[in-house]
Amino acid sequence: MKIAIASGKGGTGKTTIATSLAHTLAKEEKTNVLFLDCDVEEPNGHLFLRPVLESREEVSVPIPVVNEGKCTYCGRCAEVCQYHAIAVVGKKVLVFREICHGCGSCALNCPVEAIAERPHPIGVIEWGRSGEIAFAHGILNVGEPMASPIIRHLKKRFLKGDFTGVAILDAPPGTSCPVVETLEGTDFALLVTEPTPFGLHDLELAVQVARELSLPIGVVINRDGIGDEGVERFCQENAIPVLMRIPFQREIAEAYATGKTLVEAFPEYRERFKTLFSQIASILQARAEISGERR
Ligand code: SF4
Ligand code: SF4
Repeated sequence: MKIAIASGKGGTGKTTIATSLAHTLAKEEKTNVLFLDCDVEEPNGHLFLRPVLESREEVSVPIPVVNEGKCTYCGRCAEVCQYHAIAVVGKKVLVFREICHGCGSCALNCPVEAIAERPHPIGVIEWGRSGEIAFAHGILNVGEPMASPIIRHLKKRFLKGDFTGVAILDAPPGTSCPVVETLEGTDFALLVTEPTPFGLHDLELAVQVARELSLPIGVVINRDGIGDEGVERFCQENAIPVLMRIPFQREIAEAYATGKTLVEAFPEYRERFKTLFSQIASILQARAEISGERR
């Protein structure tokens, strides 16, 4: 089972939920848990899970290099590039490395094979163990604009077809490409929000993304008690289950600041995380039964 923990904006407590769920499942339920920190621009899962990192691998994207001696300046490469990362201007081919996704389409379509590819390092992935939890995260190099290839690499490396157990993917904040990259291919989107107008606005966007990917959704309301009823109302009107509420408490913020998972600081939360997981499992089972009946 692959559960993505996402939120429309940063600072909602996404990592608090992701790390405590991983902790509870691995330690209390003896489940085979893989924690993937896909927030590669600002990974922080390691601060709470404190893994022993054993291995590291560089991640590169193939950037096109044009052989001007062979090029006929036909413009085909620019036509096929959906990211507008290559342009032909008179007798010059310009490659905009910062927006090139390394998809290889230009090289494949060049009629005279004038494009070669050069690997350009954009970051690393690191992995190891945090006790019973298998842990991996990606780190995007400073100044590199594209997080998605690192997330893709992480998922490809650790979520192979033979993966069994529960994978918890801590998604980047927001609703842009790296979030879509994280959510794609998972089984469930657990959206963490706070009950404020900002929280609601970003939750609406996150729900939209998850629905476009046809993912079942559940919501966790963090800092319950502040703000207003907008998030509750939105969830009711859209038949989105609120699976957990965490009250706004100074002690929780203090534990977070010292790098403790919620369940380490407040062991009474373990039962609640177990319940959270069984609710997710029930939703997935019900969904599987419905799709089985339809077939
Ligand atoms: S497709 Fe090949 S030949 Fe045509 S402009 Fe691009 S690099 Fe040059
Ligand atoms: S590799 Fe892909 S994204 Fe990069 S320039 Fe070529 S077609 Fe565009």
